[in-house]
Amino acid sequence: MSILKRKKKLDSRNAEIESYALPIRFGPEMRVLIIGGGIAGLTLAGLLQQRGFKPRVVERIPEYGKVGYIIVLWPSGSRVLKGLGLYRDLIETGLPFSTYNVWDEKGEMLKSYSVDEVSEKYGPMISIYRSELISILRKNINPENITMGLSVEKIHQTPDEAIVTFSDGTRESFDLVVGCDGVRSRTRNLVFGDVPLSYSGMTGWSFWLKSGIAKSAHIAEYWGTGKFLGIWPTRNRLSVFTSIRSPKGTPDPVENRLDRIREHFSDFGGVVPEILANLEDPTEIFHDEYCDLRMDEWHKGRVVLVGDSAHAVLPTAGGGVAMAIESAAVLADELTRADSKYISQSLEAYVSRRRPRVNKVQDQSRMMGKVAFADSRAVSVLRNFVMRFYSSRLHLKYWDDLLKEPI
Ligand SMILES: Cc1cc2nc3c(=O)[nH]c(=O)nc-3n(C[C@H](O)[C@H](O)[C@H](O)COP(=O)(O)OP(=O)(O)OC[C@H]3O[C@@H](n4cnc5c(N)ncnc54)[C@H](O)[C@@H]3O)c2cc1C
Repeated sequence: MSILKRKKKLDSRNAEIESYALPIRFGPEMRVLIIGGGIAGLTLAGLLQQRGFKPRVVERIPEYGKVGYIIVLWPSGSRVLKGLGLYRDLIETGLPFSTYNVWDEKGEMLKSYSVDEVSEKYGPMISIYRSELISILRKNINPENITMGLSVEKIHQTPDEAIVTFSDGTRESFDLVVGCDGVRSRTRNLVFGDVPLSYSGMTGWSFWLKSGIAKSAHIAEYWGTGKFLGIWPTRNRLSVFTSIRSPKGTPDPVENRLDRIREHFSDFGGVVPEILANLEDPTEIFHDEYCDLRMDEWHKGRVVLVGDSAHAVLPTAGGGVAMAIESAAVLADELTRADSKYISQSLEAYVSRRRPRVNKVQDQSRMMGKVAFADSRAVSVLRNFVMRFYSSRLHLKYWDDLLKEPI
């Protein structure tokens, strides 16, 4: 080898060594910021802590309250709580369910499905009050690692770090910023710009029922034409979830809210009249436009999105929480093999592991939305007819396909 060639080789080796001489942080040494202490954020923080990281979590609300609705957690999501040592709390607080019943709007049962076989194979489906799930996930988090009442104002990225300006004016550098701040994510907006949500055309109300039918232990979904009302019990509570077709941006003032709900479902039978009669405080009724979100990219530089901020799912199939928890688990796994220099490799691996499964669940939720909320009378009559013949075997296959695949 000529002297010149040898010198060139030596120079390039030195350059490589020098680049490693930069302060590279490996695995748990990395400085990770989690924006949003909801389902995904707390799961990720718990898993990272378990692996020796010291993630910092910032949560916008000043304190966790009692606001929220019911969550149905699939076994693929609750498995992650086994690894966190929180599964016992989950089953002691939530309620496993064994049947899923579908009725038409007049109150005639179309089909009753048992999910026992699924539970036997994969573990129970568990319904739980969202704020109780948050309390369980918080148990593992070192309180010093969470700052409540704090949000982000700015994220500036250099090749080596992400410099975050918080809402209190302070600034801090991180190797990785994880946006777990929900469907209307500020992190997403700051880093990816305005990414529009896909509105499903459905809007609705969720509320808890405290009297009368509230002791029911059975899930019942009433499928109408362009309207849906489902009752979902959890321990000591009954949640009602409704949906109607409505143009985007239709206002829902508290004034006359109860009358509007009663009017929309006045032609429903079964237990619905009793539910409507027991409607109480309109300010405790949660109203939302049901949207999902598909993005081309889930990470940019040192910022990555997890949960609803990256892949919100329609509430029709109830998979949003399982998807958020699964994604948090996969990112935590990839980060154990990461370092601050080659972090994009781990983020790419996270996206490729998660995207196909999330897309599938989003497709299924959209399809289920079309079926359950069919907006033409002809389609809903046909749907009701077909439902009577949709076998339990096909229902089980649906769950089996979803639960047997790796997250
Ligand atoms: C009516 C309805 C019913 C649903 N039912 C189900 C169901 O039965 N089963 C199911 O699996 N899923 C259900 N979902 C979906 C489910 O709630 C979400 O998919 C899930 O909560 C996603 O978790 P996440 O952590 O991504 O977001 P979230 O749980 O929404 O958490 C986001 C967190 O970030 C915080 N935050 C927001 N902005 C900022 C900011 N700028 N700075 C700091 N913190 C911030 C928020 O306060 C919140 O704590 C339902 C959704 C709706 C609307």
